[in-house]
Amino acid sequence: MRILSSTNETCVARILAAAALAVVAGCTAPVSEEREVEDVADTSTSFEDFEAQVFREPETGVYIVDGDTPLISRDELRRFYEQVVLKGALAVNVASGADVRWSNTQKMNLTYCVSTAFGGNHAAVVQAMATAASAWQAAADVRFVYRSDQNGACNASNTNVMFDVRPTSGQDYLARAFFPGYPRAYRNILIDSSSFGNIAPYTLAGILRHELGHTLGFRHEHTRVSASPCFEDNGWRGLTPYDSGSVMHYPQCGGTNRGDLVLTASDNAGASSIYGANVALQLDDPRVFDAAFYLQSYGDLAAAFGSDATAARNHWLNAGISEGRRASRAFDARFYLKIHGDLQAAFQTNYAAAIDHWLNQGLRFEGRRGARELDVSYYVSTYGDLQNVFGANLREAVNHWLYQGMPVEGRAGSAEVDVNYYLSVHPDLSAAYSGNRTAALNHFIWNGLSEGRRASVSFNVSSYVNHYSDLKAAFGTDYTAAFDHWIMAGIAEGRTGAP
Ligand SMILES: [Zn+2]
Repeated sequence: MRILSSTNETCVARILAAAALAVVAGCTAPVSEEREVEDVADTSTSFEDFEAQVFREPETGVYIVDGDTPLISRDELRRFYEQVVLKGALAVNVASGADVRWSNTQKMNLTYCVSTAFGGNHAAVVQAMATAASAWQAAADVRFVYRSDQNGACNASNTNVMFDVRPTSGQDYLARAFFPGYPRAYRNILIDSSSFGNIAPYTLAGILRHELGHTLGFRHEHTRVSASPCFEDNGWRGLTPYDSGSVMHYPQCGGTNRGDLVLTASDNAGASSIYGANVALQLDDPRVFDAAFYLQSYGDLAAAFGSDATAARNHWLNAGISEGRRASRAFDARFYLKIHGDLQAAFQTNYAAAIDHWLNQGLRFEGRRGARELDVSYYVSTYGDLQNVFGANLREAVNHWLYQGMPVEGRAGSAEVDVNYYLSVHPDLSAAYSGNRTAALNHFIWNGLSEGRRASVSFNVSSYVNHYSDLKAAFGTDYTAAFDHWIMAGIAEGRTGAP
């Protein structure tokens, strides 16, 4: 991404200095097509002269053309020179006339790391990448997977990830990316230190939305206007009508976007037309949606839909998710965002993004807790037989707890909520539910916690809040808040859970 401070003037100055080359380092030629041809013919610019004018990234030696598009080799630069500067036919990101895109397998596993070399900016980059990735994932059936375990060796030779995100400085761009099909060594998103300065009205997330568009194969939208000074080449296939507000359109190239770089309706449509609509969100995955539980949990829904599971599902997809309603004993999006500060910052109240994150990243790779009643890492590590069966397959471990471990075997899903213990210490519940563990767990979710009832040997929420005067002052009888304090702070502070 290269943002110019004023329309084309920087480019104009550079172009004049470069003897009217069609393309020079970091910007494109603000001259008409006729002028380009004429100038090229008149000046007989040699490849060597052209090469001398193209910006080369000191760190990697790649050539940067069209603002932020890397060309890996001198051969590629020569091809670019012949085809674009000398007005040939194809563009760099088209292979044999076919769309350059990820395969259907690759598109669902676009793994990346974020180098620890970002230092004090690391958390900001992680968050901006998550935000940018979620925008494309909402638009199309693609999935960026953050592999935080690779951050320590997040470089161009790490083959455990599809691409690396690393810092750089002194470059001619804010950030640059790559197109699908590039070899591993060149699949990087490099973020220049200038991106951490004042880049208003853009944000780092906005810059990365643009760069991730490149990684999915999308060209600069402004190259579609052949009369534009920012025209690059004809090596593209239009997916939608021209969109001057596109996230892929440089504002200084006749773009109409005056705010941050965001995906437009056309961007969403274009992305889904090439990768398919987002059907992998799995928002009605049984781990996050149980129609009966959903209807039982909300009186307004039970009144409206009775026991109609299809109506419940439709409500969930159309309204319940965005309202932050809970529809599973195993997952609570509000709790998930509350206890994981990085996700709260990235997604705020985007509960669909939270669900998507848990299913495909937080649960799958990181073992993140998604409910007070189920802490899947605790569940697997506490029971040796489950560890042997499920190992790292935590998604299956969730199913085990839902359908077997909790209701049939009475296993504890978390250190704080043990359904057998809950039934054993509350005679009114054991009388009412007579061993129906699912009903007992529902009672805890709907009533027991807010009543301050104890649900495990190691944690007693009412004695916890009453034992510590600061907690009593802060939470009073808000036992849900006190419960969450224990998880978010109390354990780390060395407090006692059942004093
Ligand atoms: Zn770009």
